[in-house]
Amino acid sequence: MNVARLAVRPSAVARTTEVYSLAGRQSMNVPSVSRSSFKFSTSTPAYCASHKATPTSSTANTSPGQTDTSGADRFSSALRQNKEWAAQTAREHPDLFPTLATGQQPQILWLGCSDSRCPETTLLGLKPGDVFVHRNIANILHPGDLSSGAVIEYAVEHLRVKHIVVCGHTACGGVAAAMGNKQLGILDPWLLPLRLVRERNLALLQSLSPDEAALKLVELNVREGLDVVKQKGAVLSAIQERGLQVHGLIYDVGSGVLRELDTQDSEEVIRSRLTAFATQA
Ligand SMILES: [Zn+2]
Repeated sequence: MNVARLAVRPSAVARTTEVYSLAGRQSMNVPSVSRSSFKFSTSTPAYCASHKATPTSSTANTSPGQTDTSGADRFSSALRQNKEWAAQTAREHPDLFPTLATGQQPQILWLGCSDSRCPETTLLGLKPGDVFVHRNIANILHPGDLSSGAVIEYAVEHLRVKHIVVCGHTACGGVAAAMGNKQLGILDPWLLPLRLVRERNLALLQSLSPDEAALKLVELNVREGLDVVKQKGAVLSAIQERGLQVHGLIYDVGSGVLRELDTQDSEEVIRSRLTAFATQA
């Protein structure tokens, strides 16, 4: 699959390839990619911060669980739409479903937020079978989390994906929660890594406006997630042995546009990481 389908600049993707080195292996310097010049909106819609559902055109006059003016709730209409979608997709791509029935060969592993506004396959313009996915609240990657760890290992070792994406997004409710100090029950231990990032970067975050600080924490959280991904032995081996690429993206829910972060590591960081985390069977 063409890397350009990641919806980021192909040249930027190519230049973020990391070639790791350790004793006995060839090293290679790769120039870092410059940040995109455009800026995202940092305004947080009220419905996001308060975790309320967003009214849509067909349900604008209804409450959750009620029916819309056509007499059908959103789930029923979605089931109908599925049949229409399946028929239309089969007409437009007659080989797709028969091929998918035999297995999957996704080239991208997507680690993103559960937010309903961030449907990775849709926003990438891709189809079923193109993206292997793990999503959770605020795209947090706990180092010891079995769920995300199993997804990453399966994607790297068995599906042999070529790209891993850690994607945060603007107006993230989980990030907004971690920027506040309300007790949230089970969400508190889940959001702990975000609060640790907040603590480590407190001076920086406090120097920014609330909207800018929230967006900065989104970016820092993506970078934290990338570190966790690149500390996994399977990922380190795949980067060294077959050129697996790891990307950090931020999705702007207000425009639908992805921005790729400059995530180039220094040789010293790479060497330290390999020394500490590379393992062998
Ligand atoms: Zn989110």
